[in-house]
Amino acid sequence: MPAGRDTSPRRRALFLDRDGVINVDHGYVYRVEDFEFIPGIFELVRYAVHDLGWHVIIVSNQSGIGRGYFDEATYQTLTDWMLARFQAENTPITRAYHAPHHPEHGIGAYRVDHAWRKPKPGMLLQAAIDFDLDLPGSAMIGDSLSDMQAAEAAGVGLRILLEPAAEASSVGNATFHVAKTHADALVILRQSVHNSGL
Ligand SMILES: [Mg+2]
Repeated sequence: MPAGRDTSPRRRALFLDRDGVINVDHGYVYRVEDFEFIPGIFELVRYAVHDLGWHVIIVSNQSGIGRGYFDEATYQTLTDWMLARFQAENTPITRAYHAPHHPEHGIGAYRVDHAWRKPKPGMLLQAAIDFDLDLPGSAMIGDSLSDMQAAEAAGVGLRILLEPAAEASSVGNATFHVAKTHADALVILRQSVHNSGL
């Protein structure tokens, strides 16, 4: 790592995708009653917030808004409830970003190839500006390749793909690690921080 780089915990973040990472991806989830936390998510956030002292930041494509399946107010109501649940678990989330657009299926102003929609890195880059983050010293956990691509494009140093159907968790893939479970993702995050300071 370059000399003089500020790698203090307050400049690092664990980025999380939402659907498939925080909650079970039932497809365009917008109601509290459909929001099902995935086992292990609070432990992951707890480690990042309390053991590492990092920010935890959600970066989520929400084209259901752009497609007209639900609106911004509905999204925000669910998000406020979700953030309160994290707060109640003593695992506070620093901020939740979302990209409501879709280049083909968005309605009206939502039909745009927006820089925030993953696999583009816009949400992560905005968070880096907002919180003065050290992206090479940060990590991203997602459940789709577009999460890995967005993180790589943003220069996020550690990238973990959650893939429950994988044969086994694996460490050391050229571009991202694979974790079958949240517990495995926590092991990979812990080992990476311990081994390389990331
Ligand atoms: Mg996802």
